[in-house]
Amino acid sequence: MSVITIALVTMTKKVENIAVLTSGGDAPGMNAAIRSVVRACSYYKLNCFGVFKGYEGLINNEIEELNARSVRNIINKGGTFLKSARSQEFRTKEGREKAYKNLLKNNIDALVVIGGDGSFTGALKLSEEFDFPVVGIPGTIDNDINGTDYTIGYDTALNTVVDAIDKIRDTASSHNRLFLIEVMGRDAGDIALNAGIGAGAEEILIPEEDMGVERLLDSLRKSKKTGKTSSIIVVAEGDKSGKNIFELGEYVEENLDDYEVRVSVLGHIQRGGAPSCYDRVLASKLGVGAVEALIEGKREVMIGIVHKEVTIVTLKTALEKRTHKHDKLIKVADITSV
Ligand code: ATP
Repeated sequence: MSVITIALVTMTKKVENIAVLTSGGDAPGMNAAIRSVVRACSYYKLNCFGVFKGYEGLINNEIEELNARSVRNIINKGGTFLKSARSQEFRTKEGREKAYKNLLKNNIDALVVIGGDGSFTGALKLSEEFDFPVVGIPGTIDNDINGTDYTIGYDTALNTVVDAIDKIRDTASSHNRLFLIEVMGRDAGDIALNAGIGAGAEEILIPEEDMGVERLLDSLRKSKKTGKTSSIIVVAEGDKSGKNIFELGEYVEENLDDYEVRVSVLGHIQRGGAPSCYDRVLASKLGVGAVEALIEGKREVMIGIVHKEVTIVTLKTALEKRTHKHDKLIKVADITSV
């Protein structure tokens, strides 16, 4: 072993005590991810601590040791038994300092943060300001994180949305109505586009593309001419029409005589429910990956999944804007809704 290698090895403190928290919006599969982190710690003979209520609990020292049995019977449960929170105080340096001091007080060597981009931004700051090892696991229904094909909770949310739209379709077709259905996705159209295709929507409005309301009207007129009697339009929260969904509904009704329009906002049902098998397996893989990464001395990284393989990217990369395009899916949506 060269002198340089010895120096690097001794500089990286061996991880013995790992804490895990869930932060931001809850997502189905977060429990499965916590369970995986706790059990991976147990497997590798490390101590694991659960932080309750996200960064807020870190600031208030709401930390408890967990063991393999503490996480029994949670893999099938939605939400997060550690609770989640949005902490304003953690956005301040003073707040993060309190959190850091509590980590030291509990002899914790590294922190696993399960959450979305906001949670990762906080984790990165903690790491940079106090040189504290952090690893992120993407847990958010939005699927809006760079460096991973999927985030935990997204697959379950898609299935929930498709199921809800299927039910709304029954009413739409019985009454010859046009339904505008709002789904989550302020910045990312993944839920709208995939659930829209899966549920056979006529049109899908997403934040990444501005199709324009006039094109929407044209398309609906054409649909009518081809014999469609009812229609489903899926609208992501952050769509670029410049109108909220109720204004959009009124606009369509005013401009298309022969349509009776109804609006449905799916809201928080999209976050809830038992995680799908896909999300449970994904969460299990990423939890193990996070603990193994910390054992290998990795820090300031996110564990994700790319082409079915567990991958590691820096937290900075995870926080970059995603570059992938929806073009192919949009084409599929266009073709299959003729
Ligand atoms: P979701 O995608 O479900 O909304 P999220 O992780 O993006 O999840 P946020 O509410 O944005 O959810 O962030 C969670 C928490 O992370 C915040 O309440 C705050 O404590 C912390 N956080 C977010 N942004 C920052 C920031 N710029 N600096 C420090 N901490 C932050």
